[in-house]
Amino acid sequence: MVVRGRMTTGIKAVHQEEDNASFKEFAASSLYCPQCKQAMPVRAKVLLVLADGDLIDYCCKKCGTSLGTRKGGGS
Ligand SMILES: [Zn+2]
Repeated sequence: MVVRGRMTTGIKAVHQEEDNASFKEFAASSLYCPQCKQAMPVRAKVLLVLADGDLIDYCCKKCGTSLGTRKGGGS
């Protein structure tokens, strides 16, 4: 009988609170909304037009909570 306990140490799922890390790769069609307590479709709104790309604000379509901002459109 071989008991392997060490292999799994430290590889536990880490993606609950890591919004920032996952946010960048998001296509931003839906984001987790803390108000609705689930991933919600978002509405994109251009906050600022910058030289190197627009600053886009994403709001929950249902409750309007701002879920984050993102740079885009610079390329
Ligand atoms: Zn919401």
